[in-house]
Amino acid sequence: MAITSSGGSAASILEPERRTAVRDEVDVLVVGGGPAGIMAACAAAEDGLRVLLLESRSFVGGNMTIGLPVLGFLSQKGEQIIRGLPQQLIDRLKVRNAASEHRPCPLHMAITLVEPEAVKFVALEMLLDAGVEVRLHTLVAGVVKEGDRLRGVITESKSGREAILAQAVIDCTGDADVAYRAGVPCEKGDEHGGMQPPTLMFCLAGVDTERLRMSIAEEPRTYLTDFIPNDYFGQNHQFIVVGLRQLIQKAQSAGLSIPTERTIIITGLREGEAWINMTRVKRVDGTDATSLTRGEIEARRQIEDIQRYLVSYVPGFEKAYSTKTAPFLGIRETRRIVGRYVMNRDDVLSCRHFDDAIAVASYPIDLHRPNDDGCTLEWCGDCYDIPYRSLLPTKVSGLLVAGRCISTTHEAMAAIRVMAPCMAMGEAAGRAARLAVRAGVDPAEVEVRQLQRELLERGAYVRVPAQVG
Ligand SMILES: Cc1cc2nc3c(=O)[nH]c(=O)nc-3n(C[C@H](O)[C@H](O)[C@H](O)COP(=O)(O)OP(=O)(O)OC[C@H]3O[C@@H](n4cnc5c(N)ncnc54)[C@H](O)[C@@H]3O)c2cc1C
Repeated sequence: MAITSSGGSAASILEPERRTAVRDEVDVLVVGGGPAGIMAACAAAEDGLRVLLLESRSFVGGNMTIGLPVLGFLSQKGEQIIRGLPQQLIDRLKVRNAASEHRPCPLHMAITLVEPEAVKFVALEMLLDAGVEVRLHTLVAGVVKEGDRLRGVITESKSGREAILAQAVIDCTGDADVAYRAGVPCEKGDEHGGMQPPTLMFCLAGVDTERLRMSIAEEPRTYLTDFIPNDYFGQNHQFIVVGLRQLIQKAQSAGLSIPTERTIIITGLREGEAWINMTRVKRVDGTDATSLTRGEIEARRQIEDIQRYLVSYVPGFEKAYSTKTAPFLGIRETRRIVGRYVMNRDDVLSCRHFDDAIAVASYPIDLHRPNDDGCTLEWCGDCYDIPYRSLLPTKVSGLLVAGRCISTTHEAMAAIRVMAPCMAMGEAAGRAARLAVRAGVDPAEVEVRQLQRELLERGAYVRVPAQVG
């Protein structure tokens, strides 16, 4: 093996050419088992195609397993805009008392609480019931291409390095790992490359959530919340608190190190449980293992003072104790593909309709600013469409992308990134891949009207021209 040096240190090595076994060849390959990937795989498998889902972790669910509520099911006008397969997942969770109703919220439009452990079981069960083959512990580390056409991926796992070929691939990695490695142009962050900071979620038990909500409801001068009127808390037993900025300032003056301006508390489905979304590590690049490691270490260090703050300053936390941290640092933003259409801030804020709409979203631009401790929120007042072209990459065929890494700007991504729209995109990508494979065409050549018709017929919600509906 040849080692090339630069300035006295080893710069690269030349790996010997090697033969890699083709482990499998399937109709549709989905990479990433988060909210988008679960839906993509279930949709693609609906009429018997061979669909394989690869996931690098030991469980499916992605960010739906880190203690977050699912946001985005309802529009700013209260209408349910995400239906179809995503609703089926929630219905399955509800059977196990592991999901709440879609509760209206003045800030988040709707919150749907889910029990993270149950997501791991139920999402897996939904995939297996749909006939999807699932392979865990398998990281996609490279791609197989013929000219501009993606033919499959290279995986690394305990089994070593293997290839998997497919007629169509759907990248649901959140990081656009497949697209990037296939040569699709990608962007990261704002104009300076600044990305939204990640958060390690953690869970406290022994929280008196009744005392918390009634204190906020009854003492509005002491407990100031962002955008959510105090009386909302008097009427709702399950909620997200965002704000209490003055309490953080007091704690900071008393010497506690709190990395954010806002208290964010999410009630759990289990009594006395609360998930805390307050660690925040700046300048982490979720596509760089060294940077990710720094993020995990720093976020873990932040938890101690945040917990002290909650126990000492926030009503209802007096007897709270720590039970668990999320299984991994939650990454808000990394790569976005440059696709056939790049959704932008104006598309979101002008409630834009697209002829090739494949999903409807309504969540506001919710941008945790990369360089300070604050957040920018902007609402459009209604809904906006997600166009099929934003799921189609440029320069590479045989590939679709769904989830937070579709083709958007930094600002538009801050709106479409929540889990309900990611699931709707996944369902659309899965159905598109199925149509493409059945017709023997590239996903880019799929008849959009047919895709929209199928989405509507199968229970999804899309705003489409009259001739489709
Ligand atoms: C701290 C935080 C708070 C948030 N708050 C909310 C909230 O309250 N509500 C809400 O709805 N949304 C929230 N979001 C946003 C939301 O969680 C994500 O944007 C959403 O989950 C994206 O879905 P996805 O399917 O695209 O990606 P992910 O959920 O990230 O799933 C990607 C999956 O792909 C797998 N994977 C990645 N790379 C590879 C690879 N190379 N090979 C194999 N597998 C791979 C991962 O292991 C993962 O399972 C938050 C995000 C963060 C980080």
